[in-house]
Amino acid sequence: MTAATVSSPNAGDAPRPRTLSKSDFIMARECAAKLYFRENGYPDARDSNAYLAMLARGGYMVEALAKARYPNGIQLEYGRDVSGDAARTRAALEAPNVTLFEATLLVGRRQARVDILEKRGDVLRVIEVKAKSFDSVEHARQVAQNRSGVFLTQRRPYRVESKWDGKLADLTFQVVLLEQLMPGLTIQPVLALVDKSKAAGLDNVPGYFELVGRTASDGTMRLHTARFTGSAADLAQLDLVTEVDVAREVATMHDQVAELALRFESRLDAPFEAHLEGVELAPYCKKCEFRTPGQPRNGFAECWGDLAHAEPHVLELYRLGTAKGPGGTRMLPYMLDRHSASLLEAPTDALVQADHNPGGDAARQLRQIDSTRRGVPYVGPALRGNIESLTGPVHFIDFETSRLALPYHRGMRPYGLVTFQWSVHTALSLGGPLEHREWLNNADIWPNQSFAESLRDAIGDDGAVVTWSHFEETTLKQIVADLEHFGRDVPELVQWMADVFERRIVDLHQWACRDYYHPGMRGSTSIKVVLEALWRSDPIMRRQFTEWSGFAGAPADDPYQALPPIEINGVRQEVREGTGAMMAYQEMMYGEHKHDAAIRDRWASLLRQYCRLDTLSMVLILEHWRRAVGLA
Ligand code: SF4
Repeated sequence: MTAATVSSPNAGDAPRPRTLSKSDFIMARECAAKLYFRENGYPDARDSNAYLAMLARGGYMVEALAKARYPNGIQLEYGRDVSGDAARTRAALEAPNVTLFEATLLVGRRQARVDILEKRGDVLRVIEVKAKSFDSVEHARQVAQNRSGVFLTQRRPYRVESKWDGKLADLTFQVVLLEQLMPGLTIQPVLALVDKSKAAGLDNVPGYFELVGRTASDGTMRLHTARFTGSAADLAQLDLVTEVDVAREVATMHDQVAELALRFESRLDAPFEAHLEGVELAPYCKKCEFRTPGQPRNGFAECWGDLAHAEPHVLELYRLGTAKGPGGTRMLPYMLDRHSASLLEAPTDALVQADHNPGGDAARQLRQIDSTRRGVPYVGPALRGNIESLTGPVHFIDFETSRLALPYHRGMRPYGLVTFQWSVHTALSLGGPLEHREWLNNADIWPNQSFAESLRDAIGDDGAVVTWSHFEETTLKQIVADLEHFGRDVPELVQWMADVFERRIVDLHQWACRDYYHPGMRGSTSIKVVLEALWRSDPIMRRQFTEWSGFAGAPADDPYQALPPIEINGVRQEVREGTGAMMAYQEMMYGEHKHDAAIRDRWASLLRQYCRLDTLSMVLILEHWRRAVGLA
């Protein structure tokens, strides 16, 4: 499996030499074995991840905004010829003063593309743009108090905070290369970050950007970059990116990054076994991007060998990292020592919940193993009483929201909350007829106040407000804070929301964590997983679904697959998860056909059928539980 080059998927293209890019390096730092899979073209599950694609879109816009502040910046083209790209960068840097976008650095086989590289005489500013939110006011306050700032731990010896580790390692990697390429120059590392202490001065911020695609080597069109299309005056109104000097932070990780980069570079062509040095099979393997069952090549299967195929797998155990094995060991290493990865063989003696908390880790782990072994659901002692406490009208609610790096509306901060849709199913009494109501924003204004007002009109002051997770509670609290930020004087609305989140919300997710387990849940309590587990085994649920939704779903699918696609402008579109809803809303409000009423209606229909099923899901699960405890 050893090779000195990466083969091209296009017949006729010459293989290109392997290099260690910034993203290769960051991935190898997470787990060294990943470098082998990446360099050898193994399938990567992130390529089909809609949420990551949406974040990438936002990232390109932030980068374009950061670059727009350098009107004389020179955009360097780059492609498959890294040596040629690097030569062009070196030539451009001969100028005494120059600003380059996408400069290519190449030292040996380590390479980096720099977002913005500014040379002023003997000083080089290397600017890495990240669509990560940062509070410049808080950072400045801490630094003024001689504290370490937001990037470093608060206690000595100062280390980079884990949430900034990857971003700063990326920048440090570039600094290490520049030191070798441009010795004698002063290098200033800078992060350009989305600043949540600032607010947009314009509406429809995404409308000021053009997204640019490029044909990838596999023939598909991929998003390549974005351009800011506004004027200098517009740019002044969109002061949302702050550059911050991070020389101190980079210094704390410089030597480690330099040493690791050399090590990974030396392994670029090495066989798989050489990449395994220091690698441990661990709970994080569950979410490995190279876990691609069903694909011809599956990196996870190479790491785990025959243990990859255990069914049910111990990686499904709820919070496996906290699970104890016999004799003070940790469960996973204990099992791996005995060459087992089957959840059915997981040792349970050490799973003792010291405080008798039914929602505690050990209690849930024990419950999961026991229920899976016996193949029957667990119904806890409190579930029936919890359900019986739901008297009077019961409102099942679900919100759709988005938080984008660059906000839609004037006055909003980066990553500000937009609440664009709600759905409510109301039962006057459990088991009784259902009434459905919904609201979807259709106006290009900050919608959160209308969202809350329409919800108040729908569910009034009486009855439990049933949710799955604390998301709806957190969202209402955020709207309260936002109303103040926008200067809206609506005390009655604020009081109503406070009453909802302080007194009326009942969180079914908590019930699932403490008093319910079904073997099909595989350690998860996400509503979609719980629904799917029950759906497969409960014909009554499937019948109710058809009766209440008008759709028919197959027992082997999950009910969201029953939602029909809708053809919009010649393309069959579907929304079956939250990211899809955010993207559909974005298309409806800000897409190319935003002025076409018929197309808007179709996007709205997709959004409505999806959100409606979210609240119906809670009804279906609660009805299943009522049958399970003998109340229906
Ligand atoms: S399966 Fe685990 S060990 Fe293998 S590459 Fe993924 S995270 Fe690393």
